[in-house]
Amino acid sequence: MTHNVKTLQEIIDKGRRIVFFGGAGVSTESGIPDFRSADGLYNQKYAYPPEVILSDTFFYSKPEEFFKFYREKMIFPNARPNAAHKKLFELEQAGKLRGIVTQNIDGLHRMAGNRLVYELHGTIYENTCLNCGRKYGLDAIMNSEGVPRCECGGVIKPDVVLYGESLDKYTIMGACREISQADVLIVAGTSLAVQPAASFIDYFGGRELVVINPDATSADERATLVIRGRVGEAMEKIVVR
Ligand code: NAD
Ligand code: ZN
Repeated sequence: MTHNVKTLQEIIDKGRRIVFFGGAGVSTESGIPDFRSADGLYNQKYAYPPEVILSDTFFYSKPEEFFKFYREKMIFPNARPNAAHKKLFELEQAGKLRGIVTQNIDGLHRMAGNRLVYELHGTIYENTCLNCGRKYGLDAIMNSEGVPRCECGGVIKPDVVLYGESLDKYTIMGACREISQADVLIVAGTSLAVQPAASFIDYFGGRELVVINPDATSADERATLVIRGRVGEAMEKIVVR
């Protein structure tokens, strides 16, 4: 890893338009479990796999069960940005990082201070009444029981993209524009199993594709550098200059 981090440092030093593409693995070092690691949600016992519970059909047919899982497994109000989030903020401040494209809904990149964030799957911090459109914060979900309701009686739905729903078109356009204009793309903490998000990295035509993941991914063969390790540990060693 040390040797590889040295190469990552050189790539970042030369980079002028760095884009970071991440997934749930970026937040495991903040204490939020991912889906597909050994201790991820797929390997815990539930009546249904996560992508069934987190689907639009499940939301509308079994909202109580949806919110039970969602509150227990998707909301971590005490999680804080880790070394990876913090280094990306430094890189944005230095004008080297042009965007973060994330599949995460935990809001940690924004909490770290980053502005150029494309949250492909939305955020737990924004919620909308399905009846009147009134907006709510995370409190409305956390401080309620069962199915959260608006004052008007409507169901409050998190602004997260459920399996079966479409991604926001302007978020897709922004994310794909940044990826296509990048000279360095760092793909970290994602199994690249969720579509269409994973396919967006195909728009990259720049020099250096870096993959950071303890496990093998489908992007490894295209990468100029593969770091088999934790993204927080790797990014922590990077000096922004
Ligand atoms: P995933 O669970 O499918 O894959 C996580 C990947 O990260 C794995 O390949 C794992 O090896 C790797 N990983 C784990 N810890 C790592 C670390 N410290 N450093 C580097 N890599 C690490 O995650 P995904 O590809 O993002 O797809 C899951 C979907 O579920 C996404 O759509 C996402 O919205 C959602 N999700 C979000 C959160 C969150 O917001 N934090 C958490 C779980 C799931
Ligand atoms: Zn309402």
